[in-house]
Amino acid sequence: MSTQGTTSRLHSGPGLPADVLAELRGFVGDQHVLVHDGDVEPFSRDATPLFRARPDAVVLPATTAEVSAILALATRRGIPVTPRGAGSNLAAATIPEHGGIVLVLTRMNRVLEVSQGELLAVVQAGTTTATLADAAAAKGLLYAPDPGSRTVSTVAGNVAMCAGGLRGLKYGVTRNYVLGLEVVLPTGEVMRTGGRLWKDVAGYDLTRLLTGSEGTLAVITEITVGLLPMPATSSTGVAYFDNLSDAGRAVAQIIAQGTLPATLEFLDNRCVNAVEDYAQLGLDRQAGALLLFGDDGGPDVVAASLQRMADVCTDIGARGVTLAQDIAGSEALLYARRCSLPALARLAPITMLEDVTVPRPKLAEMVDTIDAITAKHDVTCATFGHAGDGNLHPTVVFDPGDGDARHRAEAAFDEIFHAAMALGGTITGEHGVGAAKRPWLAARLGPDQLALLKRIKTAFDPAGILNPGKLGS
Ligand SMILES: Cc1cc2nc3c(=O)[nH]c(=O)nc-3n(C[C@H](O)[C@H](O)[C@H](O)COP(=O)(O)OP(=O)(O)OC[C@H]3O[C@@H](n4cnc5c(N)ncnc54)[C@H](O)[C@@H]3O)c2cc1C
Repeated sequence: MSTQGTTSRLHSGPGLPADVLAELRGFVGDQHVLVHDGDVEPFSRDATPLFRARPDAVVLPATTAEVSAILALATRRGIPVTPRGAGSNLAAATIPEHGGIVLVLTRMNRVLEVSQGELLAVVQAGTTTATLADAAAAKGLLYAPDPGSRTVSTVAGNVAMCAGGLRGLKYGVTRNYVLGLEVVLPTGEVMRTGGRLWKDVAGYDLTRLLTGSEGTLAVITEITVGLLPMPATSSTGVAYFDNLSDAGRAVAQIIAQGTLPATLEFLDNRCVNAVEDYAQLGLDRQAGALLLFGDDGGPDVVAASLQRMADVCTDIGARGVTLAQDIAGSEALLYARRCSLPALARLAPITMLEDVTVPRPKLAEMVDTIDAITAKHDVTCATFGHAGDGNLHPTVVFDPGDGDARHRAEAAFDEIFHAAMALGGTITGEHGVGAAKRPWLAARLGPDQLALLKRIKTAFDPAGILNPGKLGS
């Protein structure tokens, strides 16, 4: 745990002073300040296994003014604040390593506006991704980012992590849709960045800087996102290959021939078998790799696009290719990818889902490297991911009671992260740095960039209260 730099000046427990608790209760009401063990326990952890720390208090504001009052108090008294949405992140980004306040934004959960004329929506921070997408869909519009956690994750959490998802190749990720933010600086000032415009280059792009800042620079209270017209239809196909190299060649060929698919996902053989054990979908258990491909748009365009992709897979030597006949069939195919994580999680008590990205042509090489590394360290690993983005999720499962299993898993991931960087890739494509990836951040960014990040952090957060120790701060 880092206690360097500004973090060493922060209040450290046990508990918050009585006058601070009284002020917090005055801001948000007694019932929205939690301090008892049983009440704060769920906020001691997030979706990342093996990380845990108890906050001194959990505070649930309902308005931007309340957020402002809480942050101004925290800066005055040097109290660490960890902003939190649903806590679904996979990078230990909401673990309150330095105690203090966990600031939960889920009471601010209203969709404020969906505009067909301007193709945008305005939502409060704690609105779930699915609620935003449903509100847009009700007006015939598409909110394109679709992280697998969309039914629980909040839009502010997505913005803070720059969440990706299954549509990244064709539609981009969260950052491509954030037009404007209302944020509260750690000192309590409320600020609006960007706005309702698709084009606006006045000044530094603070909206983009805050997107992916992992709750270290400001607390997001309201988000304006861009929307697209809803595609008329979508469809999916599946191809099985003897090995991942062939699937990788199919991916390269699909894109080289000018198709930008809405879906291009892969599962390796271990993952296919775990999914088949879990869901009995009739997948080809012998296949070295499964490739899901899909597109959306007008019906004729989608049919032609899927046929072109199916032909490429056949030409490359796929063992079998199937196209969904209807929406239900398409959803059934996509389910194979969506249930990968729960399927793997059944294999052992601890599931470490990781997230590296390499240049697309290096995908198969990276999977082979992951296999070699995990075999060397004797850990059980399956890999799935976004083939179109070069974004892989190697997932290690183990029993913590099994001797040095955890140590072996960590040693394997250390090598995997370095291998990804050696191939021109990165330590995280979409899940973020948090506390989990902190040990590798300096290797990824280098000392000069890391030092600049720290100077930016200080400009936003002079007392260093916001999510201290995260993102190298
Ligand atoms: C089953 C599953 C599937 C997933 N699939 C995907 C996927 O496909 N793609 C993907 O990218 N991720 C995925 N994730 C990871 C996770 O859901 C995303 O990172 C998501 O964006 C987190 O949203 P949240 O509301 O849970 O944020 P939290 O986990 O609560 O917080 C995440 C970060 O955002 C900060 N934060 C939260 N709210 C605010 C705020 N209001 N202001 C400032 N900072 C804030 C926190 O401090 C923290 O640093 C998945 C997770 C699970 C469990």
